[in-house]
Formats: sequence, structure tokens, C-alpha cells
Amino acid sequence: MKTLSVLVYLSRRIVVAVTTFACFAPIAVSAQVAPTWEAYAIRYATVPAFRVSGLIAGADTSRRLDLAMSVWLLKSSSGRTVLVDAGFQRADLIARWKPAGFMRPDSAVARAGVKATDITDVIISHIHWDHFDGADLFPNARIWIQREEVDHHIDAGGAVLDRAIDAPDALMLTTLRAQGRLAYVDGDAQEIIPGITVYTGGKHTFQSQYAGVHTAEGTVVIASDNMYLYENLEKHLPIAQTVNAASNLAAQLRMVTLATSPRLIVPGHDPAVFARFEMVGVGVVRIR
Ligand SMILES: [Zn+2]
Repeated sequence: MKTLSVLVYLSRRIVVAVTTFACFAPIAVSAQVAPTWEAYAIRYATVPAFRVSGLIAGADTSRRLDLAMSVWLLKSSSGRTVLVDAGFQRADLIARWKPAGFMRPDSAVARAGVKATDITDVIISHIHWDHFDGADLFPNARIWIQREEVDHHIDAGGAVLDRAIDAPDALMLTTLRAQGRLAYVDGDAQEIIPGITVYTGGKHTFQSQYAGVHTAEGTVVIASDNMYLYENLEKHLPIAQTVNAASNLAAQLRMVTLATSPRLIVPGHDPAVFARFEMVGVGVVRIR
């Protein structure tokens, strides 16, 4: 009898334990709070006197602007350090575009107190040279990119299918894929890292993406080239380089609904970003 009562007691304890776990597990999951990120724009170069008509559809062809070349750093206490886009590094690009104040992106992140080896994740908005060419400068990072962006631009052997990607970058993309370093994103509104969600529809390239980031000030949207300049948003004008202008405009309107405030939407190349936000280092502003 004594043995039996002990067994009954134990089995009740187990039932209670299982019930307790079953009751509380879903609550524990739903109560998980996404980490709060700090967002920074880091300027690693300037391309002088770029034609604004190359950025804003229909702009006066005489207008020129000094293009800010940037990567965006996301820091949190989660143990992950994220870059949105990776800038460029190739000597032929530097020779062709003659950027002022060029600093290789893996060195530029040090201005925000981060080493290249600290970067755990790089989110590539699209495969253009000035956003993707630096991806292999961050040896410990997994590289997040839309699967359709990859499959549209290179075939299974790495051959270029769309010349929006430079041949050397196609080779690098193929190598990263072979190394298993690509983390594919399948479509819109994907929370790929807690507190960081990516969106499609901007249509700068075939499947470009942008990111919504949970910060203490609310949601910051890192638009990258899905919105080149503040002027695109303010004048409701699509970017000049898009595969679908209507989709691009719709994406810009959606960014307004995603961001806590329109001022927290960060355009891809606008030098005004570095005047509107607090400077916290040489060429570094904090987005808040
Ligand atoms: Zn760009």
C-alpha cells in the first residue's frame, strides 16, 4: 500500500507538472519581448555631384547631389550585431566612381565601436554593387537576402542572369552560397531576427527588401534604395531606378504605416540623414 500511494503521489505530481507546463508554456512564448535595437547610419563614402534625375523619376536633369554612401548598424543586448547592407570595396569601383572620403565598410563600422568580426548578420537589401560588394568583409556574418533576389540574378552555376548584378559580385554571391553562408528570406513581412522584420515590394531590383526595426523610439524603417531620398517620400515620387514604379510608390506609402513616425524612415542615399540625426561619431548618426 505504501508503495502504491507513493506511486499515486508521484504520478499526480507529474500530471500537475505537465499541466503546469502546458498552461504556462504558450503564455511564456507569447510574452517574449523582442530585443530593443539601436539604429545607426554610418557614412563610408560620398559620390560627388550625382544627377538627381538618376534618383527621382522626372527630376530636373541639371540638379546634382553629393550622394551619401552608407551602411546601417543595428545594435542590441541580444548578442547579435546586424548590418543592413555592406557597402563596396572593389578597386575598379573606387577608380570609376571616385568617392570622396572613402573608408572600407569593415573599417567604417569601427567608428560606431564595432569590429567587422563582431557582425553576426548582414541583411542585404539588394544586389547592386554599392550595397552588396562588401558582404564578404564580415567573416562571421550570415548573409540574409531574398531567395528570389538570388535566383533572379544568378543561375545554379553562378552565371549572371540579370546584369543588375556585377560579374565579380555574382562570383562572390556564388561563393557565399557554396559556403552555406546565405540565409534565404522567402517573401514579405518576415521577422528574420527578433525585432527585425524585412519587407518586399520596393522593387528597386527584382526582389529588393527593406527592414523595420524595433527601437526604444518605436519602429525605424531602413529603406535603403527602395527610397533614395527624403524627396521621394515628400513629393510622392518613385525612385528613378525601379522595375515597377507603382509598386515602389506603394512600398513608400507602406513605410509610413510601418514607421512610428515618418522621420524614422531612413532613405538610402540622402546626405540629409547625417544632418537630421544626432552625430555620435565621425560619419555616424544615431537614428532616433
Ligand atoms: Zn545604392
